[in-house]
Amino acid sequence: MPFADILGQEKASSYLKKIAGTQQVPGALLFYGPDGVGKARAALAFAQALNCQDPQARQTGDACGVCPACQAIAKATYPDVIFVDFTYQARLEVKKDFSSKGYEEELEKEIAKQQHISVDTIREVTAKSQQKAVGGGWKVLIIDQAQTMQGAAANALLKFIEEPPQKTVWVLITNKRAAMLKTILSRCQPLAFAPLEAEQVKQILLTTEAAVSNPELCAQYSGGSVSGALKADAALDLLQSGGFGSPQGPAGVAAGLSRTLVSARQEAQAVLDLLIRALHRQWVAAAEEAEQRRLQEALKRFENYKRSIGRNVSPSLVLETALMSLDGLSIRIF
Ligand SMILES: [Zn+2]
Repeated sequence: MPFADILGQEKASSYLKKIAGTQQVPGALLFYGPDGVGKARAALAFAQALNCQDPQARQTGDACGVCPACQAIAKATYPDVIFVDFTYQARLEVKKDFSSKGYEEELEKEIAKQQHISVDTIREVTAKSQQKAVGGGWKVLIIDQAQTMQGAAANALLKFIEEPPQKTVWVLITNKRAAMLKTILSRCQPLAFAPLEAEQVKQILLTTEAAVSNPELCAQYSGGSVSGALKADAALDLLQSGGFGSPQGPAGVAAGLSRTLVSARQEAQAVLDLLIRALHRQWVAAAEEAEQRRLQEALKRFENYKRSIGRNVSPSLVLETALMSLDGLSIRIF
């Protein structure tokens, strides 16, 4: 997807188009900002812009999106563009042949286990970074979840991002810039990605295959990110099917959580996030001081509920308690 098709992030896009157009590209870039705002998309658009075979498109610093190079990058089959994430790493781990039976299930299991971009993966990619570009254009090495690299992995990467070979660029992507090693940060040109406008999130939901039941409402509760909108969709579904707002609501919503602890925790967090946004919105609109105070207290309580879900407390118990505590506040969600 060329930059022209990316909604929002105009500032980041125009910078990337400029350096792609002039070929004045730093050895390493750091894309940082919340999840689900288009960092990975922008990294791939940048890789396309650098390797596009359409001279007219290249003059503008953007890609055409349809030449063989652009298409191969979009399909992740272009040999000079490597996108490292937990899926990429899991593929290296699965021992089964990828055409054999049961490969997909094994891969899914392996992806779920991933927590860090490992030193082995970094060694694999740094070795590839030293090989000549097959397509004669730019080598683009993208590392998603870069904040999950621990000491050994980060150190293995350092000297490669410091002085990459000609026409080679590293793009590190993170949602937690502060969690990254200073030695890595100091070698990367930072590029900020801001939360999207609710309207942009809605447009993205409408133009992609994201099957959400109410794009408008999901966008409102998205916190400016597409992944936030998808979480909001699941949370809205839980609230609705559990009978939110009725006397049975708290128990009903809590009973709708998944049986596995990891999923139940994530779902409960998503419901709390949504309610926090709803409380906040109502607080901003509240005219009376007494109501403002009650909403502010509720917001404080909800931050505590969120923290306790992260600890060893049952998510359904926390969620039920949280929902019961809304009694008398008449929170409007739908
Ligand atoms: Zn192209």
